[in-house]
Amino acid sequence: MIPIALPLLTEEEADAARAAVLSGWVSQGPQVAAFERDFAALVGAPYACAVSNCTIALHLALAALEIGPGDEVITASHSFIATANCIRYCGATPVFVDIDPGTYNIDPNRVAEAITPRTRAVIAVHQMGMPCDLAALATLADRHGIILIEDAACAAGSQIRVDGGWERIGKPHGQIACFSFHPRKVITTGEGGMLTTADAKLDQKFRLLRQHGMSVPDIVRHGSPQVIFEDYLVVGFNYRMTDIQAAVGRKQLERLPELVSRRRAIAARYGELLGNFEGLRLPAEPDWARSNWQSYCVRLPDRVDQRTVMQRMLDQGIATRRGIMCSHREAPYANDKQRHDLKQSELAQDNSILLPIYAQMSKEDQERVACALRRELQAYALQ
Ligand SMILES: *Cc1c(COP(=O)(O)O)cnc(C)c1O
Repeated sequence: MIPIALPLLTEEEADAARAAVLSGWVSQGPQVAAFERDFAALVGAPYACAVSNCTIALHLALAALEIGPGDEVITASHSFIATANCIRYCGATPVFVDIDPGTYNIDPNRVAEAITPRTRAVIAVHQMGMPCDLAALATLADRHGIILIEDAACAAGSQIRVDGGWERIGKPHGQIACFSFHPRKVITTGEGGMLTTADAKLDQKFRLLRQHGMSVPDIVRHGSPQVIFEDYLVVGFNYRMTDIQAAVGRKQLERLPELVSRRRAIAARYGELLGNFEGLRLPAEPDWARSNWQSYCVRLPDRVDQRTVMQRMLDQGIATRRGIMCSHREAPYANDKQRHDLKQSELAQDNSILLPIYAQMSKEDQERVACALRRELQAYALQ
């Protein structure tokens, strides 16, 4: 069976988890602090704050900005549902706009059309690791005085060109970027998330809110020779990462450049194996973007039935997934009146499939995937 994805976890990660367990401090502590420092250094961010997952990282971002009822947040429907849900958690209104069919990312022109006096923020998703057009989005956000949040759940290790040089996603290029370390992403801590920002006040707010609004964190009280009584300053949350997860994350982070370069080689190879197939459209990077290829999404030729192709590949032991979902088609959002056309989002969900990609994927397995897909599409072409 060729899986859709496979995390790369070794004895080194297991040893790191073991050491954390045996240290006697397993909740948020020194490993979390070190993971934050390592992550900030890697992406070039002034501040990084680790949390339990990316869904709550997005919630924390909106909560720290005090976005709430009456506020609108513009985002893509064509994303994992957590992107939309975090807006609802705050009582704010998600305003969905369409994507660019070439990159599957939010279209800055559609964002511009959707801005109203109620718009507080844009959540721009780097879908499947492909950087979205941050230059256009940041300019737009600045001009309208709205906040740009990056849903970088899939984008650890992706890069964009800024002033002729390459920068990692997460610097951040808006006000806040949120990452996921779920096993389906490029590096993993089981569950885990990170917020990066250049704003010291926001970072402090994340830290306060992730730990119950507690004025003096437990680890500080633990290490203090004086008795300290803490206060609870605001209604906070328990959004902490554990030290066991962070220890694993530090090892994963060391591997990130290597994992990304392997994935980029696999994506390039898919290009060679599938590039000349009539009607099949492969994902392409804008010249200012370098994807980490968290997913490899191909657009099927017209007439080809997505589910049939997926089933026939599964019958041959090859897992695929359909294109990224559209939140506006799911129950929590289905009854909202959609203000903007979402045609490209729907087409992308219905006509695309994700092919297996992971750093340790063998050449033979990749050829098997490409051959199986070509065979299925050929069968259609002959009908
Ligand atoms: C995976 C993902 C999330 C959620 O991340 P978790 O860490 O699983 O909560 C949010 N947004 C996008 C675009 C994702 O792909």
